[in-house]
Amino acid sequence: SSTPTLGHRIAVIPGDGIGTEVMPEGLRVLEAAASRFGLDLRFETFDFACWPYYERHGAMLPPDWQDILGGFDAIYFGAVGWPEKIPDHVSLWGSLLQFRRAFDQYVNLRPARLMPGVRAPLVRADGTPYAPGEIDMLIVRENTEGEYSSIGGRMFEGTERELVVQETVMTRHGVDRVLRFAFEQARRRRGRLTSATKSNGIAITMPYWDERVRAMAAAYPDVAVDQYHIDILTAHFVQRPDRFDVVVASNLFGDILSDLAPACTGTIGIAPSANLNPERRFPSLFEPVHGSAPDIAGRGIANPIGQIWSGALMLDFLGHREAHDAIVRAIEAALAPGSGAPRTPDLGGRAGTADLGRAIAEALRAGA
Ligand code: ATP
Ligand code: MG
Repeated sequence: SSTPTLGHRIAVIPGDGIGTEVMPEGLRVLEAAASRFGLDLRFETFDFACWPYYERHGAMLPPDWQDILGGFDAIYFGAVGWPEKIPDHVSLWGSLLQFRRAFDQYVNLRPARLMPGVRAPLVRADGTPYAPGEIDMLIVRENTEGEYSSIGGRMFEGTERELVVQETVMTRHGVDRVLRFAFEQARRRRGRLTSATKSNGIAITMPYWDERVRAMAAAYPDVAVDQYHIDILTAHFVQRPDRFDVVVASNLFGDILSDLAPACTGTIGIAPSANLNPERRFPSLFEPVHGSAPDIAGRGIANPIGQIWSGALMLDFLGHREAHDAIVRAIEAALAPGSGAPRTPDLGGRAGTADLGRAIAEALRAGA
């Protein structure tokens, strides 16, 4: 008897700029993973969420986008933004941030792992480099509340008494659900969770977060928990990045850490991310950390690894961890010094986007 394969419907949105160049490589590698692991991936491509669509329709998305996308298992996204034609706040608020809100994608996830063949920007205090895999962390950012609330306003405007207030909002529901996700991730990784707050300065909301961390920790006796202040934590990211496993933080602190962590592990072209609705009531979204990179768009030289690795995260989330691991190993095999695989300019080579994409798909087929 043969094992029935589970079908997954995936909405593909390449977007703007290099999004349209790295997406075909992401799909190439996903197809290779599907054939190796017997996955049934059904892709449907959409031409919205980009400047050319906006130019024709005066909006980033069709009016019924929620019905169109709501039935998919995942959204595989390239990049959005073409600042020469349309301001970033219009393109971003008109697309990604709409998805995030409507589909309750309350977890933002960014793995940062030092890959072979990528020049690490950090060294140890004694000057020795970190080995590939030695830096390997997962930043979990709360994505819906916290410091990014729009509650507040200005008073006495235009006078000497001008006063500006913006509230931070934390709910037990909102804090607990992201902490639970982070603890679950720690449990399936190396069993260490670091939480970042600033309870000595922000004396109401941050101590509440700390309290919820301690309450949640009681349910995860197998996870070792560290609680840091955000200022000292950023210093530790630079001085001892190998110490961290899962790092969880509120919206603002998570935003900062999720830029810092990939910066500690090399080029922006390789970093992946996910916006998750862990209960799977709505589709989750997978996209590279980088943007549309207008400065190099149209030349076929963008690094496709961020897009490819995001595809691996998507397969993991859809329940195919072995396919995720195989894609990450294929990326590592292609990046390894002496692999002979082509390298894009950001990795110090002269190869094109498709050359590197093909090399990774081949490594995956060859059983990396
Ligand atoms: P965003 O608006 O999404 O925050 P941005 O527009 O400020 O991002 P990116 O589009 O990510 O920035 O580009 C930042 C820099 O990194 C640019 O110089 C760009 O060429 C480079 N870059 C981004 N992605 C890649 C990639 N995949 N390969 C090579 N270089 C890249
Ligand atoms: Mg941009």
